[in-house]
Amino acid sequence: STVAADQSVRAPLPVLGRDVTVPLVTGGEVTYAALDYAASAPALQRVWDDVAAYAPYYGSVHRGAGYLSQLSTDLFENARRTVAEFLGCRADDQVVFTRSTTDSLNLLARALPADCQVFVFETEHHASLLPWQDARVTYLNAPRTPRQAVETLERALAGRTASVQEGYGPALVCVTGASNVTGELWPVRELAAAAHAHGARIVLDAAQLAPHHRVDVRDLDVDWVAFSGHKLYAPFGSGVLAGRADWLRAAEPYLAGGGASRTVTRRPDGGVAVEWHESAARHEAGSPNVIGAYSIASACKALTEAGWENLVAREEHLIAEVRAGLAEVPQVKVLSLFGDDAPRVGVISFVVEGWNSSHFAAALSAEYGIGVRDGLFCAHPLVRTLLGSDPQTQGECGAPEAAPGEKSLNAIRVSFGAGTPDEHVERFVTAVR
Ligand code: PMP
Repeated sequence: STVAADQSVRAPLPVLGRDVTVPLVTGGEVTYAALDYAASAPALQRVWDDVAAYAPYYGSVHRGAGYLSQLSTDLFENARRTVAEFLGCRADDQVVFTRSTTDSLNLLARALPADCQVFVFETEHHASLLPWQDARVTYLNAPRTPRQAVETLERALAGRTASVQEGYGPALVCVTGASNVTGELWPVRELAAAAHAHGARIVLDAAQLAPHHRVDVRDLDVDWVAFSGHKLYAPFGSGVLAGRADWLRAAEPYLAGGGASRTVTRRPDGGVAVEWHESAARHEAGSPNVIGAYSIASACKALTEAGWENLVAREEHLIAEVRAGLAEVPQVKVLSLFGDDAPRVGVISFVVEGWNSSHFAAALSAEYGIGVRDGLFCAHPLVRTLLGSDPQTQGECGAPEAAPGEKSLNAIRVSFGAGTPDEHVERFVTAVR
């Protein structure tokens, strides 16, 4: 395509915070290198501009008769359509605006049909590992290859218990598209096929995948997808759960209140009877985060217009730079579940022999103006598996220094994306060296 042929579009996308300078302990200051996109990515300038252009006009949605209320209602509902298009949703899918991926997955957990069995790998982020505790959950052991992930799931699903009257009861598989620790891509299409072959549904945690690759619900054949605005170059406070309407429609509203209820009447017995909406509004009670939804839609448009081919090509280049740089330092060990050749996004965790990870991350900040993350990245079982540490071991930011020859208790994570200039990864590689 002409877009792909134009190398200039492979420059980083303009993001906020490019000119922020930070002091160095060694004296002077330097522009801040945000290399912690996996935690929160800087907002796109385009998103900021769109929000600024809209801000003077916003009003309450779904309620007001005034012009600005109607305008806001249109923008909010158009944002829903933009997200549905961005995700390639099916005609009857619902797009629910939530606060975050965590919120989206908790919403789905509350919408599970009775007796639903849930299958989740122990390697998940806590947001996709923990919301299912009221259901019957099977935690699957960490696979060491994508193929093993599919086989592990198939075995678990084949062994699930049939309810007496109806054969197999409902089941849900929850899986991440790209790991927030290793950046590795999971075989989502194959896992979805395995789930469906066994009558289960699948929800994709796309918090780390959606900012880096096109996520298409129909192409991947997943039933739901969840992601967060603040990792997709939009501000904090908004997220999405999109997918099959039936479970969402049948569930009690996530929050009870105005907006979710169609009519409320007093009952003869003195109580109240509520008829809830069947649309996405059912799970969006209260005045919604219109600017949040609008900014997610703006980011979706900006990424689509930049072209995934260009975004992926640029990111592959940055990944190669960082990996080559880290490979030159013998004390560095990159954490990986699926091995060196596994396809991945720009999220790389590592430990440095002889260094406490928290001190290392602090030094990158204080001496080089580079912001990375250290710790266990809200994926404690996975990081402990990768570090080979005792499952009972505590380890977080500020963990004690591992003695020579001892295992690290936490790791360092560098992550980047569409707004990252080459200079940031070059500075990082120099600093590590
Ligand atoms: N899933 C994954 C894979 C993540 O990386 C994160 C955020 N680190 C989440 C879920 C949770 O996202 P949020 O904090 O925006 O709810």
